[in-house]
Amino acid sequence: MIYFDNNATTPLDERVLDAMMPFLKTMYGNPSSVHLLGRIAQSAIETAREQIAALVDAPPTQIIFTSGGTEANNFALQCGASSTKIAIGATEHPSVLEAAKRAQSWEIIPVNTVGVIESDAIEQLIHSRPDIVSIMFANNETGTIQAIQDIASKLTPHGIRVHCDAVQALGKIPLSFSQLGVQWLSISSHKIYGPKGCGALIFDKSTPPHALIVGGGQEQDLRSGTENVAAIVGFGKAAELAKRELHERHNTMLALRTRLENELLKNAHVTLFSTHTQRLPNTVLFGLDHIDGEWVLLKLDQLGIAVSSGSACASGATEPSPVLLAMGVAPEKAQTAIRVSLSHHNTETEILKFVEIIHSFGN
Ligand code: PLP
Repeated sequence: MIYFDNNATTPLDERVLDAMMPFLKTMYGNPSSVHLLGRIAQSAIETAREQIAALVDAPPTQIIFTSGGTEANNFALQCGASSTKIAIGATEHPSVLEAAKRAQSWEIIPVNTVGVIESDAIEQLIHSRPDIVSIMFANNETGTIQAIQDIASKLTPHGIRVHCDAVQALGKIPLSFSQLGVQWLSISSHKIYGPKGCGALIFDKSTPPHALIVGGGQEQDLRSGTENVAAIVGFGKAAELAKRELHERHNTMLALRTRLENELLKNAHVTLFSTHTQRLPNTVLFGLDHIDGEWVLLKLDQLGIAVSSGSACASGATEPSPVLLAMGVAPEKAQTAIRVSLSHHNTETEILKFVEIIHSFGN
C-alpha cells in the first residue's frame, strides 16, 4: 500500500505506541487520585504538556488537552454561543466554520486565487470589528500558509482576538505560539504520528477560554472529565519526536513534493492548484483535465494507493471543494482535485509509481 493521505491522519509512530503502552496496561491510575498510581498518571500528563509546550514554544500552563483539533476549535470559538461577532477565513476547516455559525453573527474573510488572505481583507476587518477572527495557519487541502503573525499584529491592537487552527502546520513547519501573538491556537495529535482523539488548545494568559465541559475541575476547570492519559502521553511523545526530527522530516517531504510536482507537470493535462505561495512541504493538490477527482481516487484505491479528493471530512460528498471555490476555481475544474499529502516515510519510488499511474489516466 502507498499511503499519500497524511493530512487526513498519520500512522502511529512505534515509539509513541511504546510510550503509551504502560498507561494502557499497568499505570492505569486516575490522575485525580492521590495514591501512587494516580500521581504517576498525573506526572505523565504534565510531562506530555511540557513536550507539547516545547514543540509550540508556549508555557505548559497555557495548554489544555482536548479530544482533538475539532474540539480545540470549538473550545476557542464557543464564546460564539453568546453575543459574539466572528470572522473566519474562507478556507477554514468545517470545525471552525460550523462553530462560527453558532455566533450571533459571522462573516467570511475572502482569500485570493492561491488561498491567501491579503492585507486589504485584514484592513477591512479593522473596520467591521469582529470580536474574534479565526484564520488557519496552513490549509489542509492546498497546504497554503497564512501570514498569521503579521495578521495578529494588525488586529490585536484594535481589541480583536485571534484564533489560529494550526492542526496541519504542527510538526511540518516551525511553530511558535509566543511569537505568533494570537490568543488561541488549536493542535491535534493524530496529524503528527500520535494517537487519534487527542489535541490541545493553547491560550494566552490574558484570554483563557470559557469552560467547555464542567464537572470535576480537570484541566484548570476549563475542560472537566478524567483525562485520556495514554493518548495524552502519546501526543507528548509524538511532539517530542516532531521537535527533534522537524528539519529532517521537512527536508525529506519537501524533496519528495518537489519531485512529485516536477513529474506531474510533465503532463500537459495536469493543473497544480495553489502553487507560487508559501505552502506546507508535504501537500500537493492537483487535477487532471476533465477527469473527476473522485474517480481518480477510487481507481488509485483499487491499485493500493491512498489519496484524498479534498479534505477527508468532505470525502464522499460530490460537491466540489469549498476551498477551491473560495479561491475562484471554476466548479468543473475544482471537481478534478486530488490531494496527495506526504510524510517523511514516503519514498521516491512511490512517487514515481504514482506519477506513472496518473499519466496513464490522462492518456
Ligand atoms: N483543522 C484542520 C485544518 C484539520 O485538517 C483537521 C483534521 O483534518 C481538524 C482541524 C480536525 O482535527 P481532529 O481530526 O483532531 O478533530
